[in-house]
Amino acid sequence: MTIKGEATIVKHTGSHYLLAQLPEWNLFPAVLRGKIRLKGSSATNPVAVGDKVTFGSEVPLEQISLENPAVITSVSPRKNYIIRKSTNLSRQSHIIAANLDRAFIIATIDYPEIKLPFLDRILVTCEVYNVPVTIVLNKVDLYRESHKEMLEAFHEIYEGAGYEVMEVSALTGEGVDALREACKGNVSLFSGVSGVGKSSLIKALDPSLDPRVGEISDVHLQGKHTTTFYEMYPLSSGGFIVDTPGLRGFGLVDLKKEEIALYFPEMLKASADCRFSPCTHTHEPGCAVKEAVEAGEISYDRYSSYIGMLDEEGKYR
Ligand code: GDP
Ligand code: ZN
Repeated sequence: MTIKGEATIVKHTGSHYLLAQLPEWNLFPAVLRGKIRLKGSSATNPVAVGDKVTFGSEVPLEQISLENPAVITSVSPRKNYIIRKSTNLSRQSHIIAANLDRAFIIATIDYPEIKLPFLDRILVTCEVYNVPVTIVLNKVDLYRESHKEMLEAFHEIYEGAGYEVMEVSALTGEGVDALREACKGNVSLFSGVSGVGKSSLIKALDPSLDPRVGEISDVHLQGKHTTTFYEMYPLSSGGFIVDTPGLRGFGLVDLKKEEIALYFPEMLKASADCRFSPCTHTHEPGCAVKEAVEAGEISYDRYSSYIGMLDEEGKYR
């Protein structure tokens, strides 16, 4: 190899990868040769967006092209990653993105109406995979007045549980500067069910990005290619985002019943005072979590989500 270097995977097109050195964002294509597998990983994709890799090339960096792609030679250990089950019944999993500094979960109190159990499931998954989360409530222009109490209750529950909650409106621009600031210097995952305004928000953050079109400007590839894979975008104000179009949620992987509550931060805290350990916080006498729920210190909605997950546990494995 003429040259060697380190770069980050920013896109996988199926036939090849796009790499870039960050923060420069000098895109170039690369291929995987031979077997690269992280130890203990059952993922269908050996490397994913956000992975830091070493590469070699026979030609200088500026001359790397689809005809002369770089070759990925190794993958660095990940600080974290987010995974999705290939199907609910399958043991195989697909890594959505790796080395995330933060996940922004975009939601709306209404339009569409928020589904708390679904949100809580995503929050648990982020806790499991060690990705710090911020909840971003979009479209506040639509419901700040009409759903005042719900909005207040939401802040109380989720900030009380330890999550940062931001209020934004992609339409009016309110809160967008603060979100842009929070993205600076980070690789951030953007996730949310369809309709919450994730695309609009990304566009508000950086008008040069249009996630609906799903193209990053790519000097090496002429013509169109549709995006069926997750992809990283540079924000002109600084930082990088990984959009997750069509992602309805992340699968839970290998959580035992007695582990689930460890990923509800407020329950974990309270459980120090449970009489039994482990405690499922259901039938056990002297359960400090149940007492906290009865005293209104832990939200009944969060506890319900937890019970729902206990009941469903097993379907995921
Ligand atoms: P996505 O499916 O999450 O990418 O959602 P879109 O960005 O396509 O937005 C869905 C709809 O909500 C569109 O009609 C947007 O114009 C609208 N929308 C997005 N953000 C806001 C907002 O902050 N306020 C209002 N009122 N409408 C919004
Ligand atoms: Zn308990």
